[in-house]
Amino acid sequence: MKAVAVVPGKPNSMHLADLPEPSVDDVPSGCGVLVEVLRVGVDGTDKEINQAELGAAPEGYDFLVTGHESLGRVLEVGPNVHELSPGDYVVATVRRPGNSIYDRIGAYDMTTDEVYYERGINLLHGFLTERYVDNSEYIVKVPNALAESGVLLEPVSIVEKGVEQAYEIQRRLGVWRPERAAVVGAGPLGLLATLALRLRGLEVTVLALTEPPTSGSELVEALGARYVSTRALPLVEASESYGPFDIVFEATGASSVVFEGMEALGKNGVLVLTGISGGDKKIEVPGDRILTGLVLGNKVAVGTVNAHRGYFQRGVQDMALAEMQYPGWLGRLLTHPVRGLQNYAETMRLLTEVKSAIKVFVELDSL
Ligand code: BGC
Ligand code: ZN
Repeated sequence: MKAVAVVPGKPNSMHLADLPEPSVDDVPSGCGVLVEVLRVGVDGTDKEINQAELGAAPEGYDFLVTGHESLGRVLEVGPNVHELSPGDYVVATVRRPGNSIYDRIGAYDMTTDEVYYERGINLLHGFLTERYVDNSEYIVKVPNALAESGVLLEPVSIVEKGVEQAYEIQRRLGVWRPERAAVVGAGPLGLLATLALRLRGLEVTVLALTEPPTSGSELVEALGARYVSTRALPLVEASESYGPFDIVFEATGASSVVFEGMEALGKNGVLVLTGISGGDKKIEVPGDRILTGLVLGNKVAVGTVNAHRGYFQRGVQDMALAEMQYPGWLGRLLTHPVRGLQNYAETMRLLTEVKSAIKVFVELDSL
């Protein structure tokens, strides 16, 4: 069976590899689910893996099969799987539990282990392959009506976790009725965060480098949110015009934005950080001003990574609500399909070179 793989540690090593056919019996206790892969989205993580900045091969292999944003169809289930049947559309979660107490209570996205296991990223093969098998615990059903945009569920789950963490943290306030949010970055994560916040009734200002109109700015406006180019209005100034921001959702991974976000945050606000930068850049920030603002404003900054099963399930609910409130909007994110595993070079080219691409994804089969 064919799969797209890299040799970790070797830049631009993407190639077609051969994997043995998976079987439901590979998973013990009758909980296996065999899935036919239909679509796989790619993102910055895949770019970094192909550039050998990230990624490790599973034990016993010298290659790593990539792909962590999947949509598939169930082919077969083990005797102890009752919630899924052949023909169901499904998305697999990415991280698998380690040993920390968080892993043991199902919050594997909160692991404190040094080594973490993520399909398609670290120490486990991913989904850019014809079929995969996994424990039903890590497989989330997607209703047929959401199949078209189902491949977006993994990035949606990341946003769900970020937003839910913000609400959870803000219970400290006794009453929290956020009104205004800023989202920094208009890539898939920024756009999906805008959607999630609009669905919760917030007024959202999206800040990104590029001057409008872009496909991103049009998608922002289609949600009734505001798009602002930081060239025209930097984040801190935008908070004077459109704030105070109860939430700042950071989705660029640029470290300078983090500190601007702290400054742009309103009193009692929460800054949610989802992006990382692999670099080692030193930057200068107005430290005293930021510190004073944080303390006198009771502000919080929180980092958030990955998502467990629950966030995927809540993601399905939000995607369903999105189809009701903004019909067709999710599908508009799927701008660049690439047919077939063998065209991995084209997939990476679109991902790295085409600025107007919102979501590049591999299509293995029709839905
Ligand atoms: C994935 C997450 C993962 C993170 C770090 C992201 O691209 O969506 O599931 O935890 O990379 O590896
Ligand atoms: Zn990702």
